[in-house]
Amino acid sequence: MFTSILAALGLDLQAIIATLIPNHHPVKIKGVRMYNHKSIRIQYQKDIWKYLLGQNSFHGVDLREFGIIATVLKIKFNVESNLSLMNLVQSIEDSNLSSIDKAKYTSVAGLLFAMKEGVTYKFAELKFNCQHCNSTVNGEHTCKSSRYVCSGCGAKVGLNKANYWPMGTLALSDVSYARVYCHERIDALWGKYEITRNAAYAEVARLLGIPRPLCHIGLIESLHEAGRFIAATDSLRLTLDEKNANC
Ligand SMILES: [Zn+2]
Repeated sequence: MFTSILAALGLDLQAIIATLIPNHHPVKIKGVRMYNHKSIRIQYQKDIWKYLLGQNSFHGVDLREFGIIATVLKIKFNVESNLSLMNLVQSIEDSNLSSIDKAKYTSVAGLLFAMKEGVTYKFAELKFNCQHCNSTVNGEHTCKSSRYVCSGCGAKVGLNKANYWPMGTLALSDVSYARVYCHERIDALWGKYEITRNAAYAEVARLLGIPRPLCHIGLIESLHEAGRFIAATDSLRLTLDEKNANC
């Protein structure tokens, strides 16, 4: 996902990596050669975290994407020297980003400006169009769940109530049901066996040959991908059963 954003913005991955980790040379910590991970991304993440904590609205916010987006805003859109939020929002609007990414970048841009000016930032629902049919997407809240639903084709995705961030991509009904089923399968593992939720996802990621951050049910986009995910959870269940039998 990250590489597709870079491609849309016309940015080179190597150049970004060099900026994300500016002190790219190894340093010695307690005699061990390590890389210095003091990156702009981590710094942004910490600053955003402190700011949200200060205004008491940190609870439940998932910051992982915020640091990356803030960094790209700095590199591509010159966020720190940009004088008005309106200019910045216009540049984001004029970019080649997808509709949902434009909404995410605009939200983080608003947050960075609020931080700079020392004012309160209130998260709001993102305004974007469906990647399947281009219709408007609206937030839908019931006592049980909150989600974004497309007004045209009905594609949906869960949303994080703390910052209105979509928890993955919009899915049509078949993939949406498949995602629910995938959840049931993996939840049954860490509920029943001696394995943590994170370890279960890490093992499924290994079996699928994908990085752990991409092993996220909200990112499953086809029945084929859902089938592979379920096969991996089955394989993990068999391993855990064998382990139990040998105890
Ligand atoms: Zn749609």
